[in-house]
Amino acid sequence: MNVDTRNDRHPDIAFTSVHAAETVTRLRATFSSGRTKPLAWRKQQLQALRCLLTEHQDILAEALHADLGKNATESYVMEIGFLVKEIDHTLRHLDRWVRPRKVSVPLTLAPARAWTVREPLGTVLIISPWNYPLNLALAPLIGALAAGNCVVLKPSEVAPATSAVLAHWLPRVLDPEAVAVVEGGVPETTALLEQRFDHILYTGNGAVGRIVMAAAALHLTPVTLELGGKSPVVIEPGADLAAAARRIAWGKFTNAGQTCVAPDYVLAIGQAGEDIEAHLAEAIREMYGADPFRSEDYGRIINERHFDRLAGLLGDGRTVVGGDHDRSTRYIAPTVLADVDPESAVMSDEIFGPVLPIVRVPDLDAAIAFINGRDKPLALYAFTASKRSKRRLTSETSSGGLAFGVPTAQLAVPGLPFGGVGESGMGSYHGSYSLDTFSHTKSVLDKPLKPDTLSVTYPPYTRRKDRILRRIM
Ligand code: NAD
Repeated sequence: MNVDTRNDRHPDIAFTSVHAAETVTRLRATFSSGRTKPLAWRKQQLQALRCLLTEHQDILAEALHADLGKNATESYVMEIGFLVKEIDHTLRHLDRWVRPRKVSVPLTLAPARAWTVREPLGTVLIISPWNYPLNLALAPLIGALAAGNCVVLKPSEVAPATSAVLAHWLPRVLDPEAVAVVEGGVPETTALLEQRFDHILYTGNGAVGRIVMAAAALHLTPVTLELGGKSPVVIEPGADLAAAARRIAWGKFTNAGQTCVAPDYVLAIGQAGEDIEAHLAEAIREMYGADPFRSEDYGRIINERHFDRLAGLLGDGRTVVGGDHDRSTRYIAPTVLADVDPESAVMSDEIFGPVLPIVRVPDLDAAIAFINGRDKPLALYAFTASKRSKRRLTSETSSGGLAFGVPTAQLAVPGLPFGGVGESGMGSYHGSYSLDTFSHTKSVLDKPLKPDTLSVTYPPYTRRKDRILRRIM
């Protein structure tokens, strides 16, 4: 099937604040009409999105390949299939998640009933990045629709093929009066951010996260910020290093390292630092062959700007494996660097590419001190055979998520929240946590007027009333 990637808006007409205001006004009118509130509407939207994902997965996979050189299997596992599972999980549990919850009433207020109801927030803005351009646009959209909101989705201009496919298809399969896709970059996002939304979920880097939060503050709009950071992998000598290396290589080099929860660097304890080198080299060879440039399973860097940034990091430390790069194809080989200085460039900012430095520390105390001396990461991983080390890492460090024995897979557990802490973000989503993010939990109290058991609390206050109140409260 041919992809018609026409935008709904003529590409020569700039999307200005006026257009942004019109879009939001249109969606607000839909929300006010009450159309998005019934569960039937919400489920229908999710089913329609599911249909798009399953019936047009070839178009989606082509777009992902055009943007990032992603292999179709990887696209299915990390994006398309992931989203289908998220929809199925949501459809399975939505009735329960939105059901009013009874709350007990204190004796002083009896007789009365109390409960909570979830209500949609209204019109929300989702701003997504380029690295998993489908997953990170649609996973929040699933939650926002399940909660009964209208949505403006702003995909990343840095992944133009996927952005065009979303702009073409979403208004055709979803309710176009409730979901709008606005393509574009900084000017378009700025125009949108001038508008008042009821929630903004932004995924991307922390610098833009600050811009989003400042714009939201003007309207007192709550934000969820899904940011990045340097996610460490702690390796202890007693762990099965061959198996650990395979898992680390998979988590790191999938999507050519352009994964927010990818292991950023290895924090190797004692002898594990030296021993893991050969295992990592072997794991890379097993997965991508002797020349990863020829592997159909290995992706490319999104653009020249990121290529140049990453190429500049290749000189740090000693190259264990990789290091080759080619600007014309935006190829950077899976690369492992050893003897890396913790103060070097590769250890300063999030790498977000296929370069894996190994930093050596003498013991777990030093590893924990190293982690705690830096920004709180989006994820922390550890390969250790020691239960005590697991307990210590759990209680003595802070990170958005923590996984033992496998990196990145925590996202595939639908019952776990996905989000950062500190510099790696605020708020979370996925599954029921998306409902929390995109709903308001309203408290309801219903007390009959008769009998008037509150009369003791009304002025004028007497000694007797005072005595009773102090006793029963
Ligand atoms: P990006 O360049 O695609 O930007 C993200 C979004 O912000 C885009 O939609 C873009 O149009 C918009 N944007 C960019 N500049 C803006 C500006 N000045 N004003 C308003 N909007 C603007 O993506 P990126 O930031 O390069 O993404 C990579 C970063 O995102 C990494 O740090 C990564 O760790 C993080 N990330 C986090 C998660 C997560 O779920 N926590 C997921 C993926 C990526």
